[in-house]
Amino acid sequence: MSTESRKIRLVMDLRNAGVTDTRVLAAMERIPREKFVEEAFHDQAYANQALPISCGQTISQPLVVGLMTQALEITDRHKILEVGTGSGYQAAILSKLARRVYTIERHRDLMQVAERRFKECNLHNITTLVGDGYKGWPAQAPFDRILVTAAARLVPPELVAQLSDEGGIMVLPVGDVGGLHQEVIRVRKEGTQFQSERLFPVRFVPLVQGLPQDHSAARRAAREREES
Ligand code: SAH
Repeated sequence: MSTESRKIRLVMDLRNAGVTDTRVLAAMERIPREKFVEEAFHDQAYANQALPISCGQTISQPLVVGLMTQALEITDRHKILEVGTGSGYQAAILSKLARRVYTIERHRDLMQVAERRFKECNLHNITTLVGDGYKGWPAQAPFDRILVTAAARLVPPELVAQLSDEGGIMVLPVGDVGGLHQEVIRVRKEGTQFQSERLFPVRFVPLVQGLPQDHSAARRAAREREES
């Protein structure tokens, strides 16, 4: 089967499974998912499944991307924060729907690859940051929408604080880090009022606080100390 017919079948499957927002489906049709997976998985790029990426992480299942994106109720005026860039696929989908996307990833290696893909796909409204997304991006806040693509035990209070209080929406998986009991939650913020709903069960990699240890930098510093 050709890539094009696999893609059409996937989009039909997503619609049958509840992704009914035509803007979301159109964005998923336009972004080439094969560019966001490793070469060994190119033939599975349009299967409805999560796939491994480097640093022990995963690119989410298309159905989960579709449902979470739809749950955000995005318009082309929105400024969106994504936590957990990973392959960059979800950010690419958001970039087709919103005015501007800010995306944070704790693994520098993943971010470098994602940035290259954004360029290749001519996506110029994505701003990236290597850092701890648990803390959000205070300098760019408030955000109309926040999407977290790694599971936290609780809703991170820093992210709630950075959500617009004029109808801001945050969608995130919450639950145990082992991945057995996680649910996508939608939080709506209006003034000082919050309303939260449980949407559907999922399995995400954990949201990890802090940055990965840079062993090469630590070794270099130790060597410099010895030499001096
Ligand atoms: N949205 C991604 C899915 C990535 S999986 C995609 O479309 O491919 C989740 C990602 O969240 C991983 O890359 C992981 O490294 C990252 N992550 C986990 N905790 C984080 C944190 N505190 N800050 C930023 N990124 C984090």
